[in-house]
Amino acid sequence: MKITRIETFLVPPRWLFCRIETDEGIVGWGEPVVEGRAEVVRAAVDVLAEYLIGQDPLRVQDHWQVLSKGGFYRSGPILSSAVAGIDQALWDIAGKAYGAPVYALLGGALRDEVRVYAWVGGDEPAGLADEIAAQVEAGFTAVKMNAAARTSPIPTPAETAAVVERVAVAREILGPDRDVAVDMHGRFGPAAARRVLQAIEPLHPLFVEEPLLPEQGQLLAALVGATSVPIATGERLYGRAEFLPALHA
Ligand SMILES: [Mg+2]
Repeated sequence: MKITRIETFLVPPRWLFCRIETDEGIVGWGEPVVEGRAEVVRAAVDVLAEYLIGQDPLRVQDHWQVLSKGGFYRSGPILSSAVAGIDQALWDIAGKAYGAPVYALLGGALRDEVRVYAWVGGDEPAGLADEIAAQVEAGFTAVKMNAAARTSPIPTPAETAAVVERVAVAREILGPDRDVAVDMHGRFGPAAARRVLQAIEPLHPLFVEEPLLPEQGQLLAALVGATSVPIATGERLYGRAEFLPALHA
């Protein structure tokens, strides 16, 4: 089997999909995109397609190695997202070629169910309570919210209090049997992140996400050590090596 054609489809407002076609009629789909950079990732897929045309699509790992590590410049959001979407499409082709779901090719099913949370915004306090109540009504046992939309790297006492107030509103609606998680998106400076974490700690967040920017990974261990709130991160890390500081934290 050979790859004969790779197309990309930009779907407004922010999605990109790729379709890989083979000479045996099997087609695979993937989603090579990173938020806000769909057109740049599309260009990267076009460049990588030059290597893939004519290749055997079932050498999925081989292609991943070449596309990820074969060039002098590696990783980063654009290249990693382009390769990830192509990888998905190649696995899709492999699943269809072998007549098996991709999870079977990757080692078999692991979980029969998984707990999920609902996103409730939180950039603006208005409407937050209604949104949380609606998600509780819909049956969710956890929600995730933004800590703040615009905030200073070193927030004023009022800005910090506003964050606490927002999380407190969520906790009051959710009660002790449901959870609220808070995404900081790296919007606070390292010192302020620690301060805000301590301020919302009594409200028992399920976790706080991205308290630091991805390039501040060396500060993560100290932050984790300064709070009992579980820390989530990794949304803007690419490749195993970039996860090392987080794993050590
Ligand atoms: Mg996030």
